[in-house]
Amino acid sequence: MPTTESDKQVLLCSNCFVDEGLRIDAFKHGLEQDGNCPNCNSSNGRKLTKDHVEGLAWRFFVGGTTFRTEYGAAPVIQFNHHHYGKSDISPSPWLKNDIKLIEDSARIGFFHYGPRLWMVGEVEPLKDLLDPTKRSQIIRRVLTEYPVETLAKGSTFYRLRVDPRHPDNPDEYDSPPIALAGKGRLDSVRFPVMYGSQDIDICIHECRASVDDDIYVATLKLQRDMRLLNLTHVLKEDVTEFESLDIAIHMLFLARSHSYDISRAIALAAKDAGFDGLIYPSFFSLVRTGGHPFETAYGLSLRRYHPEAEQYAQAFTIPNFALFGRPLQELSVRVHCINRLVLTHVGYTGYFGPVTY
Ligand SMILES: [Zn+2]
Repeated sequence: MPTTESDKQVLLCSNCFVDEGLRIDAFKHGLEQDGNCPNCNSSNGRKLTKDHVEGLAWRFFVGGTTFRTEYGAAPVIQFNHHHYGKSDISPSPWLKNDIKLIEDSARIGFFHYGPRLWMVGEVEPLKDLLDPTKRSQIIRRVLTEYPVETLAKGSTFYRLRVDPRHPDNPDEYDSPPIALAGKGRLDSVRFPVMYGSQDIDICIHECRASVDDDIYVATLKLQRDMRLLNLTHVLKEDVTEFESLDIAIHMLFLARSHSYDISRAIALAAKDAGFDGLIYPSFFSLVRTGGHPFETAYGLSLRRYHPEAEQYAQAFTIPNFALFGRPLQELSVRVHCINRLVLTHVGYTGYFGPVTY
């Protein structure tokens, strides 16, 4: 929709709200603009246009009520223009007037959202991956349908260690010894994997580092071209979400440790097929980029239907590398330099949500 003058009109301000979470979020995203609020007459709140009000509504009521399931995630509340005047949610008493302000100014209505079942993991290729008798069929598809990416000789990436015994010893930054392999997302018993990323913040999150830890970061350099299977690629598919391999793989890598049997089987199959490693979406992609899992508009996946779906999905996916074996020992990677990393702050920026609805 084109922007009109009325879209730029100030409707509310951050001081209009009783709920502390709404007030803080409105202050963070609103405009610093002189003049009194047309609703509460306050002069020092941040001003909100219709766009701001809708953004606030989305973060607080949709983002703030989203729950993860074993695979996938879905919000409990949604809103749209069709539900204006027909809201069916039961908020806390202090939120009632805030909600009315939001609904009337943006002409939207909140309602309990029955998620489409694919959003909570009802995706055929994912169910087949979970079934040991069908798993290998899907893995064969993964190996052929995802593209190969070559990481060029000389490329650098980071690898972090918390409390290494000898921080200045390059060997500390190789994959764990074979005897210790089998605890992570992609390594298995007797099959070590080196995890790394080109984003230092992601390394910090991935190894759950805290400000109390003694942390070292190695900058590693590839000594030869590496042939990797790129699982962060957005597959072009002509099927529904229920049949989507793209969504299945995306959900797999955003799931917690109950999913590791499957991701380990994919890594082993890629190794047997001659790949040097995988590029996979970081579990922390969403935290780092501020994205939202399986964002939908009227139940359709934006990952698939957004006019610029590929850029959209890529903007919200941070690639991690997993290099098979022990690349430092095998001389395919060398340590370029090692630094101590002093954390002063490990931050999560977030948003608020309601407590009852
Ligand atoms: Zn106000």
